[in-house]
Parts: sequence; structure tokens; C-alpha cells
Amino acid sequence: VIEVTKIVKRYGERTVLREISFEIAAGQAVALVGPSGGGKSTMLRCMIGLEPFEGGSVRVADAHLAPGTLRKNAAPLKVLHAQAGMVFQQWHLFPHRTALENVCEAPIHVRGDAPEKARARASELLAKVGLSHRESAMPRSMSGGEQQRCAIARALAMDPKVLFMDEPTSALDPQRVGDLVELLDQLTEEAKLTLVIVTHEMRFAEKLCDRALVLYEGNVIEDGAPGEVLASPKDSRTRAFLGLED
Ligand code: ATP
Ligand code: MG
Repeated sequence: VIEVTKIVKRYGERTVLREISFEIAAGQAVALVGPSGGGKSTMLRCMIGLEPFEGGSVRVADAHLAPGTLRKNAAPLKVLHAQAGMVFQQWHLFPHRTALENVCEAPIHVRGDAPEKARARASELLAKVGLSHRESAMPRSMSGGEQQRCAIARALAMDPKVLFMDEPTSALDPQRVGDLVELLDQLTEEAKLTLVIVTHEMRFAEKLCDRALVLYEGNVIEDGAPGEVLASPKDSRTRAFLGLED
């Protein structure tokens, strides 16, 4: 469902992604890990069309992106955004909307769902992320973890085929992380949701993901089951980043 082919991304003179290629099958959960500044967030932004790139191509579900397509033609982006959701490192809730309104905004205004139906579904999703009691809260009155869970519910409300998440556990306590693993596990099985998750928490990656890609200075240096990457990394740079002795 995802095909990244030799993607190259530069910021000025600096090359941040160096001809990265990988494929992800529908229903797979993939962790993108690696040291800070390794290009993880950039990779996600390129995959969801928020960042132009200089070389290669990306296919996500039915959308094809290549250098130039973003500027010339918005059609692939429409296709992409109908099928893929994103939860950002900074979760960007609409500040003047309640939790419930944040979740049903796109279903009503982008997809044209009936407001009643959208609100019922939003309420269900908020319950799944443990926010039933905060439906009418404004973002500024919610804790970081509550805002993060609201952002996750909002992304799921559009029934994406693919969900990109940047550090979705950074503001969650261990109990909430466990709940999130359970919810996402269920969605990958039942709805064949495909997940690409940037995370620093290898334990979280191990529980939820079938696969871990280690991104280091713009290259993928490991690709394997999270348990294997943890137990026996092939590359000494992975050992260093995981804090293992050589
Ligand atoms: P972290 O784990 O800290 O979130 P990351 O792996 O997500 O790191 P990126 O945010 O993808 O890293 O950044 C990769 C590199 O690209 C970094 O060196 C960063 O400084 C650089 N970079 C990111 N965004 C820009 C930008 N808009 N302009 C110039 N350089 C950028
Ligand atoms: Mg990042």
C-alpha cells in the first residue's frame, strides 16, 4: 500500500534523505526509529505531501507523488488526504473548537457526513481514546496527553487506510500507551489500517509493530522485526543509538 522509491530530500546544501526505498504492505505497522535529526519527521512529511522532495517517488494508497506533482497539480494530494491521516509531533488541534468538534470537523466539512452521524462517531472515538469526559473541553484546557489523544481520534475519524504518526506516545503515561497499542492493534487487524509511526520508544515499537526501520543520517540502516533489531542490530551505529555496548 506504500512504495517509496529512491526518495531524495535536500534543505539547501544539506541532503536529509538519501535515495531511501522501501515498501509497506496493507495492514502492516512499521516503526520509524533513529537518532534525533536523522530525518524521520521529514520522511513522514514527504510521504503525506507536506514537503516537496528533489528525487524519487512515493506512492501511498492510490496517490502518486513525485518532484513537481505537488506544485503543478493538487489532484494527487486530494487523493492522498482522502486516504491517509497524520498525527503530528505538535498535534495542532483547532484552538477554538471543543474536543468533539475537533474530531467531527473533517467528516462533516470535508467528507460531507451528516452532522448527527459524525458527532455520534466522534463520541465513540473519543471514548476509545479515554476522553468521554472531555468532549466539550477546549484544547487549551486539556493536558498535553489529552490533546494528543484527541488528535489521534481526529485522524481516525476520517477512516484512513494509512495513518502516519510522529511520536504519538510522547505525552502519554504507560497506561495510556498500553490503551493506544490495543486500539491501533485492533484497527490494523479489523480495518487493515496501515501504520507508519515515528517513535523513540523501542518497547512501544516492539509491542505494536511488525517491523522497524532505523533511519540514520538519511539512510535506512536496519529493516527488521523490532525485537530482532533490538536484540541483534546489524549495524554498529544502531547499537550506539540504542545505547548498547559493542
Ligand atoms: P527528531 O527525532 O528530533 O524529531 P527527526 O529524525 O524527525 O528528529 P527531522 O525533523 O526530519 O529529524 O530533521 C532532519 C534534518 O533536517 C535535521 O538536521 C533538521 O535540522 C533538518 N531540517 C528539518 N526541517 C528543516 C527545514 N524546514 N529547513 C532546514 N532544515 C530542516
Ligand atoms: Mg521529528
